[in-house]
Amino acid sequence: MAKSQVMITDTFIDNLSREALLKKVFEKVEEHRKSVFIVTANPEIVMTARKSSLYRESLLKADFIIPDGYGIMLASKVLKQPLEEKIVGYELLHTFLKYASKKEKSVYFFGARKGIADLAARNAIELYPNIKIAGIRDGYSGHGDHIAEEIANTNPDFVFIGLGVPLQEQWAAKYKYLFEASVLMGVGGSFDVLSGTVKRAPQIWLKYNLEWLYRLLTQPTRGKRMVQLPVFMVTVFKQKWLNSNKKPKQRRIF
Ligand code: UDP
Repeated sequence: MAKSQVMITDTFIDNLSREALLKKVFEKVEEHRKSVFIVTANPEIVMTARKSSLYRESLLKADFIIPDGYGIMLASKVLKQPLEEKIVGYELLHTFLKYASKKEKSVYFFGARKGIADLAARNAIELYPNIKIAGIRDGYSGHGDHIAEEIANTNPDFVFIGLGVPLQEQWAAKYKYLFEASVLMGVGGSFDVLSGTVKRAPQIWLKYNLEWLYRLLTQPTRGKRMVQLPVFMVTVFKQKWLNSNKKPKQRRIF
């Protein structure tokens, strides 16, 4: 029987289909009783969790950690515990926006450079006309207690946090308690893409799992961060060969 969570280095990744995830999340949104914190994990997130205990603890507060991309899927295959389905964060953001429009739910866009989240929200409204914008805030004019309270006071159904790794997950973990019934999800540079400022890789690159190469060619400054990719794979092979039984102290239960 497939495991419900697969441990990739130090991080438990949830093994569920996209459909099962959406069912669980939408149920919570409709019940309006509990907040849901989703992490879209990629190799950078897993490697950051290895290095930083603060970040590792933040991930333990997540309700779902889903495999965002080929790197995590490949790692699960190497470990002979293949995860069911890749769930791409940027696509999940669109699914949530579509749902929010259909159900007239509210969304908060938090992050990116000044003006970018506004542009992203404008484009989101064009694509999904019935979404309610609870608020918009850039990611460089503070993210402390006051700002978190201000955001929580707008009672958003969805809070998309585009502050990058590790800040966005640390922020969601720290302030989740302020949100009565919101879906909180780190979206990295998604506002840059949704605003039209940064281009996403064309479909053919995505099809062949080459988004990382496209990003490297179009944003060469990311090179330093991408060094983590081969290091991640080496770490996964080490885990396989050493058959490490090391587990984090807590397992997340939704
Ligand atoms: N960012 C922010 N505040 C900060 C640091 C970063 O709002 O203090 C934003 C940044 O402008 C960008 C996003 O966080 O929009 C991170 O994007 P990146 O492309 O690094 O994330 P990825 O999509 O690779 O996870």
